[in-house]
Amino acid sequence: MKPLIVANWKMNPPSLKEAERLFAAVKNIKGAQVIICPPFIYLSAIKANGAQDVFWENRGAYTGEISPAMLKNIGVKYVIIGHSERRKHQKETNEIIAEKLKVALKVGLKPILCIDKVSQIPKNIKGLIIAYEPLFAIGTGKACSPQRAKKMRLAINKAAGRALVLYGGSVNSQNAKSYTKEAGFQGLLVGGASLKSKEFIDIIKNVCYR
Ligand code: PEP
Repeated sequence: MKPLIVANWKMNPPSLKEAERLFAAVKNIKGAQVIICPPFIYLSAIKANGAQDVFWENRGAYTGEISPAMLKNIGVKYVIIGHSERRKHQKETNEIIAEKLKVALKVGLKPILCIDKVSQIPKNIKGLIIAYEPLFAIGTGKACSPQRAKKMRLAINKAAGRALVLYGGSVNSQNAKSYTKEAGFQGLLVGGASLKSKEFIDIIKNVCYR
């Protein structure tokens, strides 16, 4: 199977023009399955296939929220759920995250659940992609060693059966391959480096061809 490379743009870039430029530069890279998760506001315009979050209900009086049905209906296929930045800033709990996962799955979205501990994997929810994102490595430039990441990958495989497992946390073109080849992850979740088109393309090339 081709590696799954997920780009989490977070709250970037600041204009649609820049979003269009970045998306155009990276959307047709061959070799990997590339999922681009821009801010909600750009999803329709650039026709991206991934979103960064979703609400736990499909409709109703929830000011400011975006539902799984809305994402599905504009062609989104994947959704990141439980990112550590949302656990921290929006105080999302494992219970809230489990509700989001269930509703996303129900409408046919593929959830990418972010965790940094095996205990954050819900027991009775099947069909998830799991991204191991050690907190110390997210946005810090201090990537996890492939040996340590591999131990977690094995523990996640044990807990989550056949789920695809990705690594995320300060991935760049230099270290990307160590996670897919050495540590055996089936793909990567890339934050900061996904905003630089050349670096992101190099990550994909290094993982797929070199
Ligand atoms: C992330 O946002 O999920 C992430 C891994 O960020 P970065 O690659 O910047 O560490």
